[in-house]
Amino acid sequence: MNKLFAFWGFLIAMSGCSAHSHKEPAHQRSLPLLEVRPVDAPKRPVFTEAPTSTFEVATFLETSSPTQLLKAAATTCRDARDERGFFGLYRTDAGPKGEIALTFDDGPHPTATASVLKLLAQHGRKATFFLVGRNISRDTYPLVQQMRADGHALGSHSYSHNVHMTNVATPDATIEDIVAQHEVTAILIDIALLAKSPEDFDQRFTRVFDSAPATWLSGRTIREHWKTYQSRHTSELSLAGYAPGDRPYRVIYSRPPGGGPYVEHDGAAGIAIYDKALARLGMVNVMWHSASGDTVPEKRGDFGFLTDNLAKGAKQGGVVLIHDYMRPDALEHSLEQMARDGVRTVPLASAVAAKYGCDESALRTLLRGPS
Ligand SMILES: [Zn+2]
Repeated sequence: MNKLFAFWGFLIAMSGCSAHSHKEPAHQRSLPLLEVRPVDAPKRPVFTEAPTSTFEVATFLETSSPTQLLKAAATTCRDARDERGFFGLYRTDAGPKGEIALTFDDGPHPTATASVLKLLAQHGRKATFFLVGRNISRDTYPLVQQMRADGHALGSHSYSHNVHMTNVATPDATIEDIVAQHEVTAILIDIALLAKSPEDFDQRFTRVFDSAPATWLSGRTIREHWKTYQSRHTSELSLAGYAPGDRPYRVIYSRPPGGGPYVEHDGAAGIAIYDKALARLGMVNVMWHSASGDTVPEKRGDFGFLTDNLAKGAKQGGVVLIHDYMRPDALEHSLEQMARDGVRTVPLASAVAAKYGCDESALRTLLRGPS
């Protein structure tokens, strides 16, 4: 039992998110840093308390690889929401060995994210970037555009990166907060994709959020005003010629900062709150099977530690968690090793196809709900 807890403690330490390891953009330096999960926080294996579903994934995967499944994916999804009320990908899901979905958290950052994009392009790998809304700015919006141009997928990692998202207010207000955090990030992703210049980004930001450029909105402000922001954004899209319900990018993947209640404290109550928010969002919650370990404070500079973790994760298969600020030479080495080992990278859509038996467009339709 002690071994089990030690193992979970290690995983939890590996999962924390931090923005302390890189410089903030000039106009943001005077603002507070992101909240960071304390490394000595209570640790317990909450997954054992909240087991995921028992879909027919195992049988599904015994006969085909997710890549094959994606090609053959149906245009309607198995509606497995009865299991937990929302869609999700969890570390307990099955996955084929040597086939991974790369995910990068905490960007966009002017230099760290640019470095990741360059390495991925050099190695011909696609990934999903879980973006922090307040990091999307006049300085970083071109990187979001480059992600799409390079064929990467985008997800929401919340606006404020509060690792205690399930404990900000009363349960109802907390659900509203989580919904607001991901919705506002989705709006900022749209603005980033629409912006034609830094000045244009700032003007769009001001029109939607009624705030000066580069303002970091407080969690409370977002919770109280996100519907107004959404309404203004819809009007902007309409003026730009978008049909009702259409937008530059529909975010369907979200990841709670630090893994939220699914990794650590708050237990069953926190999970229930986050589950309800996800059901309202209509987003797929994406956890991970392995991590580079780049958030472990005393290990993030350790080349061997990082590359060993990624090598093991690649061999194991599934969703791999990395942060944009991971030591670049270690990431480069890992990408080279993946090529030597014949490790395949697949989009998250492959994991969706394996678990829900449908393609991404069918999933979007299902998540959007009856119109
Ligand atoms: Zn994070």
